[in-house]
Amino acid sequence: MSPAPAGLIIVVSAPSGGGKGTILQRVSQGDLRLRHTVSVTTRAPRTGEVDGKHYYFVNRQTFDRWVDEGRFAEWAEVHGQRYGTLRAELDRVRGAGDAVLELDIQGMRSIRGIHPDAVTIFLLPPSMETLEERLRNRGDLSPETLAIRLRNAEAEIATKNEYTHAIVNDDLDAAVAEFQAILRAERARAAQPGANT
Ligand code: 5GP
Repeated sequence: MSPAPAGLIIVVSAPSGGGKGTILQRVSQGDLRLRHTVSVTTRAPRTGEVDGKHYYFVNRQTFDRWVDEGRFAEWAEVHGQRYGTLRAELDRVRGAGDAVLELDIQGMRSIRGIHPDAVTIFLLPPSMETLEERLRNRGDLSPETLAIRLRNAEAEIATKNEYTHAIVNDDLDAAVAEFQAILRAERARAAQPGANT
């Protein structure tokens, strides 16, 4: 076997509007070991999103060809679009540090299937009302998309017990501190002799 890349795999899931972006940005700023995988998606870029930075934006035909070629470590259909993590991207990122993957529940289950030692974190909004308010304030979602995302959020929140950690994003500073504490604990655990064997 080739030498295994050493970095942790950290899967983060949150309902759309769960504050995932803000928390991850804050945590990553002060933590040079964290590296984010860039996913492939068939959805259209939002304003300000850059190809190769936020996502690799591809059409459905290309996505499905890459699926057939076995290039994805995991992929799923989310909100009617396809999203996936390339194997090569995961290897690249793990070679450089601890990999953060922002995935939906299906992606989390797939990654846990191939990497049982993956750290899985679910970010919870304080309430459905707060979630709806956050999504509305974003202002870039059509009423139909908003309705789909709210429906999906209820189903997603019901899956939180499948994750090793859940953080309620009530107070941003507290949520960031909790995330950092989980990272410290998981890194200490991975560094113990006999871990990851
Ligand atoms: P958005 O369209 O808001 O960027 O992302 C929508 C959902 O897709 C989020 O729940 C996000 O976590 C999920 N997602 C993003 N990239 C991937 C991926 O590579 N695989 C899977 N399974 N889900 C993803």
